[in-house]
Amino acid sequence: MPKRVLSLRLLVRRWAMVRARAATRLIGNYPFFAGLSGTLVATVMAILTYAALYEGRAEELRHAAENSHNLVQLISNDIARNVEIYDLSLQAVVTAAQQPQTWLMPEALRQRVLFDRATAASNLGGAYVVDATGHVKASQRAVAEAVAAGVSFADRDYFVAHQSDPRAGLFFSKPYRSRLRGGVLTIGLTRRIDAPDGAFAGVALLGVRLDYFQQLLERVDLGQRGHLFILMRDGTLLASKPPSQRGAGASYADLPNFAVFSRRDAGTYTAHSALDGVMRIYTFAHVGNTPVIVVAAPAVADVLASWRRRSYIALVMTTVFGGAWVVVSWVLAFALRDKVVAEGELLRLAVTDPLTGLANRRAFDRRLAEEWQHAVRERTPLSVLFFDIDHFKLFNDTYGHAAGDEVLAFVAGRIAAGSRRATDLVARFGGEEFVVLLPGTTLDAATRMAEKIRRRIESDNLTLSGTHHGCVTVSAGCASCDPPAGGSGAKLLIAADRLLYEAKEAGRNQVRSQQWTGDGTPPLVGSEAGTRGRDAPAT
Ligand code: GH3
Ligand code: MG
Ligand code: MG
Repeated sequence: MPKRVLSLRLLVRRWAMVRARAATRLIGNYPFFAGLSGTLVATVMAILTYAALYEGRAEELRHAAENSHNLVQLISNDIARNVEIYDLSLQAVVTAAQQPQTWLMPEALRQRVLFDRATAASNLGGAYVVDATGHVKASQRAVAEAVAAGVSFADRDYFVAHQSDPRAGLFFSKPYRSRLRGGVLTIGLTRRIDAPDGAFAGVALLGVRLDYFQQLLERVDLGQRGHLFILMRDGTLLASKPPSQRGAGASYADLPNFAVFSRRDAGTYTAHSALDGVMRIYTFAHVGNTPVIVVAAPAVADVLASWRRRSYIALVMTTVFGGAWVVVSWVLAFALRDKVVAEGELLRLAVTDPLTGLANRRAFDRRLAEEWQHAVRERTPLSVLFFDIDHFKLFNDTYGHAAGDEVLAFVAGRIAAGSRRATDLVARFGGEEFVVLLPGTTLDAATRMAEKIRRRIESDNLTLSGTHHGCVTVSAGCASCDPPAGGSGAKLLIAADRLLYEAKEAGRNQVRSQQWTGDGTPPLVGSEAGTRGRDAPAT
């Protein structure tokens, strides 16, 4: 494999590790971040799921409206096409009826001239020529008896309309019960027949059985509670599926939904049915140049039935898994918090002296090296105090080890109280020895501080019989450099230790201080170190 690809992979892996470590650190430092981010992720997932479900619902409704629209279009087209064909036939009847020769022909021939094949369609309830008095003058089917019976259509709305208005054109009558075909519900498609002088000479009539409209609806399924219906512009019902309460031919003009159908040519809206209270999506359209309105209205509950089933499953899954995710996140957060607290405590213990509560030697050494570097870099003074309790072995021997421990803690408190700055560090160096690191402090200030601490402990007057002072005292060495040059922090500490030794030699309960130049630190003489009976600071 080429070297470049390898190094790229290495880079990516390193980057991923750094990111992972950063994330762990972040979660470690802020344990509740894990719980909160887990909750946030679950909440976002839930919101996205709900949004997707909501969008799915809208999509289902849109889809249903589209279906209804297509359905309404299909039915409308069927009606419009048939009306167009029937109108052509009617116009042919009118033209033929207006020719005087037609009426001179033998009856069989006249039948063929007046009525074309379209008038024999199964949907039609007959084609007729009605004379100016309202009586049947010719019929596509034989109605001799009826004619004989003198049936009159003079009272029909179409007859009255054409009689009174030469420009009525193609007229759609209201549904009526046929007087020639046993009361079958029919609407009449009619045109006026004019006499040569323009006077009213009768009506060409094509009866369209309401069954035709009903058949159109029967082919379609709009669900359990879906409604389909065909109305006339005045609210008269021509057909409906399922059959309506009032029945075909009845008026529905009083219903609030009808007001919407009559206001616009086409549209889609959702509303409750005034008849059964079911919420439906109504899609309607007026059919071409006819007074017919087609309406498809699937029930919202039917449209959304399968969506509801799917959504229910998705909601349960989202809630269960999202809830589990949140619980796991918080369990993890609490576990992490406990771990962080425990680690913090361990870290504190690792740098703390258990008896005095001060920093221990390890912490001091680390800070000494850091402050040394800082003082070198910034060219600022750095001082170190080295305290040792005088004749402490004697104290232990005289008053016991437990009392010795108490005095150790007491002296530690006094030394700690003597340092004021946040950057100062007081530590138990070992045994009955204490060190104080004073960054940014000159020799004078450090000496004054050491002297103040020494005096304070002396004035506390803790009895220690058998010594020159008769009480617990401390000796101190104070070494300072301003600024540090050459050497190291450890060497500065050795210088302080050497000065402490001098203070012991000079009679104890005193402070010895010196500006340290960094190069002239004499090593502790073996006998001196041995006399003081402790490890010399590490160089
Ligand atoms: P000098 O004035 O020269 O310092 O004499 P000293 O007796 O203080 O010095 P030395 O080094 O001979 O004795 C130090 C004593 O400190 C020995 C030990 O018993 C005591 N010591 C060290 N650590 C502890 C401690 O944790 N608790 C107690 N009670 N005593 C301790
Ligand atoms: Mg000692
Ligand atoms: Mg001592």
